[in-house]
Amino acid sequence: MSDSNPAAQTPSDDKIRCDACPVMCYIKPGASGACDRYANHNGELVRVDPHVVLDRALAHGAAVVPFHRDGSWDGTLISPPETFITAIGAGTTYPDYKPAPFIVSSEVGGVDMVTVVTEGIFSYCGVKVKIDTDRFLGPEQATVRAGGEAIGHVTTSEYGSQMLSLGGVHHLTGGSKKEGRITCEALLDLCNGKPVELTIDGGSTVMVQAGQAPIVNGVKEERMRVGCGSATIGMFAKQWLGLVDDVVVVDDHITGVLSEHQAGKVLGIPDTGIKIKGRRSTPGRYFQVAEPGTGWGGTNISDPLSILGPFDRKVAWPGLRLYFISTTGEHAAYFELDDGLIPREKEMPAELAMLSQRVKDNCEPALSTVLFMAGAGGSLRAGVTENPVRLTDSVKDALTYVTCGGAPVYVYPGGGITIMVDVTKMPENAFGYVPTPALVAPIEFTLRLSDYQELGGHMAEVRPVSSITLDDGRRPVAPHADNPWPLAPNAVKRYFG
Ligand code: SF4
Repeated sequence: MSDSNPAAQTPSDDKIRCDACPVMCYIKPGASGACDRYANHNGELVRVDPHVVLDRALAHGAAVVPFHRDGSWDGTLISPPETFITAIGAGTTYPDYKPAPFIVSSEVGGVDMVTVVTEGIFSYCGVKVKIDTDRFLGPEQATVRAGGEAIGHVTTSEYGSQMLSLGGVHHLTGGSKKEGRITCEALLDLCNGKPVELTIDGGSTVMVQAGQAPIVNGVKEERMRVGCGSATIGMFAKQWLGLVDDVVVVDDHITGVLSEHQAGKVLGIPDTGIKIKGRRSTPGRYFQVAEPGTGWGGTNISDPLSILGPFDRKVAWPGLRLYFISTTGEHAAYFELDDGLIPREKEMPAELAMLSQRVKDNCEPALSTVLFMAGAGGSLRAGVTENPVRLTDSVKDALTYVTCGGAPVYVYPGGGITIMVDVTKMPENAFGYVPTPALVAPIEFTLRLSDYQELGGHMAEVRPVSSITLDDGRRPVAPHADNPWPLAPNAVKRYFG
């Protein structure tokens, strides 16, 4: 358990009042509040979860520091420059007139730095989910549900990925109480790396878990597409040359046809008299060859011949070799035209089968990515400085480096401090909730001590990192290997000039 909350009140009946969020629970001795994050421990309000500190020595194979120590230990961390105090389990600033729970100074490469940490309570937050699949999940703007409740919508798809926008203040606060509760629950599970089943109106059911393959209608997605149908033609045209007379790459968005495509023209591939149903965009590139679905290339077809019209009898010839493949290589088929110019399926030549495998091999593994997005432009800033807008300015001016649990964040341009972070780069179980409903997420601001003073920081609350002990339930964890060290001297240079 970490530091007690100084703002706790103690009524006469031994219950204590938590004021760490607007719910204001009265908590009996030995019990915890509605969010299970704060408890009454012998009359003292304490944060239940361990306070996480990143210890870079652990990443290099040093022994894990024991969680509980005997009385002989002097209580200081082993190597302060190797330690970053995260906001996970640190407590909140709510109701926002008080300074952040930890304002910690350290010397980095000869520069005095300060890190201000707090667990933010975010009513304005959500997740963007990127699902690497060509399969049709649902129409744009369709409602996404968890447990039957609307928690978000399908948004614009990206290259090889479908995108969902979940949560946000509208679903957290603007619907029924149940909608807000289920939305908060789904966001919390997604952010903490748990699987969540989502159903999309007019579309599919998808199981999403950060960093894992999506499961669409019960089928685990293996690969994302190598490219759109047109790009696939361009990538492999030369390798198909001589093995077949024409290739169709079936894609819900842009179906490619080798003999008509610029790549085929450059390679001197003759016309084949092929006729594709769908809207011709430019030579060899067709839109809307079928309806979206979970079949070939994200269409609803299971028979590739269903997108063909009759061959032009003046151009095509008996024995013409025709190869179909989907954008993931998951589907492939080989045909030859008979004397009546009707395609007949034949066993695929070995060399062509090898190239089908090559398309598959060039497809990256399909993953679900969960990006937490929130606005820290509100009252949370008051826990950092008496001049809240100056924190925003300082972030915009790149004087202040923002992290979530030590993970780098993307700060959106424009007003406020609107951040986005990949939850898989954060320590485990970094997120909590309060039943208002809102998500609780860690956020740290690191800047030069001199800049902190200038922007009106709570200087009286600054304490050296060496004064932070590993008792009181503080837990050291290794930083994520892919993350820049938030206090590295080069990070200081990079971010602070
Ligand atoms: S819900 Fe949690 S943070 Fe909010 S008042 Fe109750 S115990 Fe405190």
